[in-house]
Amino acid sequence: MPIRYLLSIARLCSFVAIAAFTPTSQASQAAPQLFGNIQLSAKAAAGQQPAWIKRYRYGRVNMPALSAASPGKSAKSGAAPAGAAVIELNLFADVTLTARLESARKTPSGNLVWHGVIDSGGEVVLARVGDSLAGTVYHAGKQYHIEYVGNGNYRIGEIDPTRQLTEPEPSASPLTKSPQSLPQAKNSKSLDDGSEIDLLVTYNQTARSAAGGTNGIQAKIESGVELINQALARSGIVTRINLVAMEEVSHGETGNVFADLNWAKYDPGILKLRNQYAADIVFYITQTGNFFGVVDPFLNHGNVNNYHATSQLRQDSLLDVGHFGHELGHLLGCDHAGDQGFAHGRSWSYYSFGYDGYPSHPYRTVVSKTVTPALQIPYFSNPGIAYAGHAIGSNGGPHPADNVRTINETAAIVARFRNSADRNPINIVPFIYPLLF
Ligand SMILES: [Zn+2]
Repeated sequence: MPIRYLLSIARLCSFVAIAAFTPTSQASQAAPQLFGNIQLSAKAAAGQQPAWIKRYRYGRVNMPALSAASPGKSAKSGAAPAGAAVIELNLFADVTLTARLESARKTPSGNLVWHGVIDSGGEVVLARVGDSLAGTVYHAGKQYHIEYVGNGNYRIGEIDPTRQLTEPEPSASPLTKSPQSLPQAKNSKSLDDGSEIDLLVTYNQTARSAAGGTNGIQAKIESGVELINQALARSGIVTRINLVAMEEVSHGETGNVFADLNWAKYDPGILKLRNQYAADIVFYITQTGNFFGVVDPFLNHGNVNNYHATSQLRQDSLLDVGHFGHELGHLLGCDHAGDQGFAHGRSWSYYSFGYDGYPSHPYRTVVSKTVTPALQIPYFSNPGIAYAGHAIGSNGGPHPADNVRTINETAAIVARFRNSADRNPINIVPFIYPLLF
């Protein structure tokens, strides 16, 4: 496990114990602020206001401050550029956080993502695509989203987890079309080992428009994938998500997540893209939906995965690992927490349950539903990890909760839904740049 992930675990765990933020350091006074203030009427802002945003304001982003912390513009030999890697997240008048951007990474699509820690506890993930930024901040048990809304404006919102959309139970419905056999790997000498799951994210024009344009929605996708990878790493999962492509598809949406998922599963255009990019799993992003997302049960994958291993997700759920990562967890064989009415039979194994410790422990993991007041934390269930003093999984009982074991076992299976060696040539330039160590 890379050392930066280990440090992230330690720091994330530590923020639980810190009840209040104390803005004292001189660094916070000297660091550039990420947001400039603007006054923008709700009418002037593009996009809809999700019901789960407790409070929000609009602002501009100080891109030069971020550019100074970008690969290629930093100090040589991996040293921290003086002052450039520290920014002030002036989210609200009463929430101003000092963030240290510890790593910047160039993604396969050539975009930049940053991961940083908050001095007073917590973390931040940011992604930039062209002129658009997106990100998520965790601090003191709260979650904030940074979303582009068009015309150079951003909405900074605090999330109310009690008002988030829920998710339908996946139904093990029979196939509506005849199964097709898997395409055989052309290069059988280099089968994928499961260290990476190749992801294709498609979105329609309605979702793109609501996210402020192509750069806006792609920044949210990049940021969401980075959040998922951070959650996988800190949970003890070996595999990472490799975002091989983001593509707009020309299709409307019904507002019914089952209908939209069904279209995406069988659309020949999406299947062509999936084969072109050798994508193991596929997401289809819509703007509307009666639930935040839906996915095919994992056990259908083994039947035929030309049509399966696909999820529908609303674009306003991309920045929440409890939504984007939740559906991805299902695609990798994870089940909900055991008392949430979801029985083994549609997941990988008897220990594939998520974790919800309410009421004795008010936290729940990524693949659990919003049925208790428990706060969702960016971890997958793992009996070997303690969060705020309690294990966030179990080996025994009626619903053993070990999504980490589950994903570590299913990753190599899913990674071979399409073999990476069969990918048509695309430009992949992974680049890790440690800013501070
Ligand atoms: Zn679910």
